[in-house]
Amino acid sequence: MYDKNNIFAKILRKEIPCNKVLENDYVLAFHDICPQKKIHVLLIPKGAYIDLDDFNSNASDKEILEFNKAILEIVKLLKISNKNNGYRVLSNIGSDGGQEVPHLHYHIFGGEEIGKMVA
Ligand code: 5GP
Repeated sequence: MYDKNNIFAKILRKEIPCNKVLENDYVLAFHDICPQKKIHVLLIPKGAYIDLDDFNSNASDKEILEFNKAILEIVKLLKISNKNNGYRVLSNIGSDGGQEVPHLHYHIFGGEEIGKMVA
């Protein structure tokens, strides 16, 4: 069950501010409050989805398309696409995945060498 009081739901409702990178009808992207790399952006869908399993099971094709297409728009804006030096996209899912905020998000890391795949 989706928790409407999770921190990203509050950001979507503008109850909590964020440092916005991109917003459209389907997604919001903003800088992580505690960046793990020089660039650390979070991309979230506007729909209420707990994680990637929930999203891929229940989101519309348009929502899935727009969520994934937004990655390219963000990395172009931040100049970290593979035309520059590249980046990493990561999503934590559930307890073994280490997910803390129960609203689907992609982490987008860049701006420096990211290092090992799994710490
Ligand atoms: P998770 O562990 O769920 O994959 O990642 C949650 C991320 O959300 C963490 O990287 C954490 O720093 C970030 N975060 C938590 N609360 C806030 C907040 O209020 N604002 C922003 N911008 N990021 C947050």
